[in-house]
Amino acid sequence: MPAGDSFFIATPIFYVNDVPHIGHAYTEVAADVLARWHRQRGDDTWLLTGTDEHGQKILRTATSHDVTPQQWADKLVTESWKPLLETVDISNDDFIRTTDERHEAGVQKFLQKLYDDGFIYQGEFEGSYCVGCEEYKQPGDLVEGTGPFEGEQVCAIHSKPVELLKENNYFFRMSDFEQRLLDLYEQQPDFVQPETVRNEIVQFVRQGLRDLSISRQSFDWGVKVPWDEEHVVYVWFDALLNYVTAIGYGVDDEQFHRRWPAVQLVGKDIARFHAVIWPAMLMAAGLPVPKAVFGHGWLLVGGEKMSKSKLTGIAPQQITDVFGADAFRYYFMRAITFGQDGNFSWEDIAARYQAELANGFGNLASRVVAMITRYFDGVVPVAGELTDADLAIRETELRVTAAADAAIERFAINEALASIWELVDALNGYITEQEPWALAKHDDQRERLATVLSTALRGLGTLTVLLSPFIPTATHTLWESIGQGTLTSQPVDRAAEWSSAPAVVPLAAGLFPRIEQPEPAA
Ligand SMILES: [Zn+2]
Repeated sequence: MPAGDSFFIATPIFYVNDVPHIGHAYTEVAADVLARWHRQRGDDTWLLTGTDEHGQKILRTATSHDVTPQQWADKLVTESWKPLLETVDISNDDFIRTTDERHEAGVQKFLQKLYDDGFIYQGEFEGSYCVGCEEYKQPGDLVEGTGPFEGEQVCAIHSKPVELLKENNYFFRMSDFEQRLLDLYEQQPDFVQPETVRNEIVQFVRQGLRDLSISRQSFDWGVKVPWDEEHVVYVWFDALLNYVTAIGYGVDDEQFHRRWPAVQLVGKDIARFHAVIWPAMLMAAGLPVPKAVFGHGWLLVGGEKMSKSKLTGIAPQQITDVFGADAFRYYFMRAITFGQDGNFSWEDIAARYQAELANGFGNLASRVVAMITRYFDGVVPVAGELTDADLAIRETELRVTAAADAAIERFAINEALASIWELVDALNGYITEQEPWALAKHDDQRERLATVLSTALRGLGTLTVLLSPFIPTATHTLWESIGQGTLTSQPVDRAAEWSSAPAVVPLAAGLFPRIEQPEPAA
């Protein structure tokens, strides 16, 4: 896309029922890397995240802790969810809570419009409801229970019994949008990504869509239905609207049209809500659908999906306390193919930390800065005539920049990093071959030494620009030592055009210090 375009990216808003695990941090980091990259190529970027605070599950959790649902939500947002963003260094532009006044007003406005336009009607509904999912379940979504629930039908995700609910509710005419949705998936094949998730969604809609029950009468923790205050809005219908209420839907048209439509990252388990219900809601309101809905995979620990309830939940801070936020970000973006499930292990992150960050990139940076300090008193040397080896480094800088930019454009975050790492490897190989320490022993090789270190420094600066969306802290430190201006204002899609300071400043310590204890004590 041409630089300067609007790039609005949203994570799902997180349910405040519980505390964050590394799966939540994974989604945040992926969205943040994409946002930082786009921001740094000059796009009009906006990163939105936030929390989902309504619904029966929150009400029950709060009640069981003897607090009001609002108190419960406030506590979790302050103590867990906002700190998560700091733990993994998220550069969000906004944080929306579904209990925000701006959100509740926007939900009511949207709902009233759909009601006035005939997309909402009143009806009787009976179905099996999973409070864990906050969703009515189809018979095919249920499985035989085990253990205490043997002989009962349970939710396949939560392994807990469902509740038979009968309610007089308001319904959204979702079935009206079946064909329009199928046309959308057909005409805009990259609307749902990756392919596996897209196929699942198309398959699901082809089986036929039922109208959606969008209000509840049995409890009152939610946004009131504007024309019938006995009802609160179904928590998913409420939550999905955050993506437009946050950017001024119904109150600030200028902001809204500047940002919308969004790119939306979601876990694949909630892709249905985002790729079926959400575009149908938008179509009903006469608004454009999202640019893309990307369903990423699950993080597995020992082959099991990460979740608190399955006892495999790992708090992001357990990892950042040992390795730091940069390594957390790098590891999950590099080791897992974005869009597929991926396994986390302490051994794997420790190995990559050592080999790739400390030895690969960190060591390269230390050596180049140290040699310029030692052989040229820190003054950045001017290159003389370039050999093929020097030109090959320049060529690699340009090639990996273009490859990484193209990979980011198609959400292939891990491929972008793999491309950038070709430059890390090329520079390490170049230094080994050119042996600047040997050149330094001969006065008549002075010009060649200047050319080699100048070439290495140029490559290192390009790397710093390219890696800044991924590892913002280490690259900032390195930039303070070698660069001119602000790192985050260097155009990432023209990374090789960076300007070095007249002299380098020695690095006080390694960018990635040695880790003594790669796994936290149990
Ligand atoms: Zn469930």
